[in-house]
Amino acid sequence: MQFSPQSKVPGRLKIYLITDMEGVCGVVDFQDYCSKDGIFRDLGRKLLTEEVNAAVSGFFIGGATEVVVVDGHGGGGWIAPDLLDERAKLHCGSSSCPWDELFDDYDALAFVGQHPKAGTPYGHFSHTQTGECIDFRVNGLSIGEFGQFALVAMQHQVPVIFASGCEALAKEAEELVSGIVTVGVKRGTCPAPNPASKDFTRGMGLAQAGATHLSPVLARSLIKLGACQAAERVRTPGALYSCPDLHGPYSCEAEYRDSSEKITKMFGRFIPARSIKTAEFERLGDAFEEFYRLEWLDPAELKAQA
Ligand SMILES: [Zn+2]
Repeated sequence: MQFSPQSKVPGRLKIYLITDMEGVCGVVDFQDYCSKDGIFRDLGRKLLTEEVNAAVSGFFIGGATEVVVVDGHGGGGWIAPDLLDERAKLHCGSSSCPWDELFDDYDALAFVGQHPKAGTPYGHFSHTQTGECIDFRVNGLSIGEFGQFALVAMQHQVPVIFASGCEALAKEAEELVSGIVTVGVKRGTCPAPNPASKDFTRGMGLAQAGATHLSPVLARSLIKLGACQAAERVRTPGALYSCPDLHGPYSCEAEYRDSSEKITKMFGRFIPARSIKTAEFERLGDAFEEFYRLEWLDPAELKAQA
């Protein structure tokens, strides 16, 4: 599908900015930087918040009128509110809003610190969902977490204007959304991470932890510049944005390998490899929401519902 966005309120450019930790420059491993008891957690939060500030700054220079930052990693608590640019608003915690209505009051969607989908060559911490997920598809199209939000927004004619993360994420974003501005801040060293292998999650700390990072200061300059260009572009009359055509009804499916130690602990027991497939839905966002519900169901309940 292809469209030229219209501002919902004349003169307004209100941006929904989704954040994550794994794609931030200087965030070098999962255990120390991205988990609640990580020894470099505070440094990770600062690195994330500084990147978000760079994007916020660029967006306002480019003509944004409002930026709402969504603290997206692991349920929130990662943006350091005391360091956040005073022009930004911060949304934390879960939202009761259906996915298909998430972007109703926004003019554009953007991402900072995003990671590529599971198994992406040269991705840094590539994964989809929990890390056990091998491949996720909607109506046969393989996507990651970037793609889930991006496709819902685009379906509602809300353009996806900017994404930063590792170089592999930048490539994934450009392949899915034409018209987006991207910035790569690091490059993973693993040519073929294999999400079907049990070393893959271990690899969230080891096999996939290799990466060459830009200086975080340079990364922020590039993010600020890219965000400014993205805001200017979306305000340009006739600017086009496009993504693959998907037609309803919509259904999601994914394969998972055996649960890792972390997920085993979360569920209170080992979960053998499984597949999840949703029913068909009229709205795309409803299919994603249903998938997230099934993913966190106890596997016995999941079986009963199948
Ligand atoms: Zn994350």
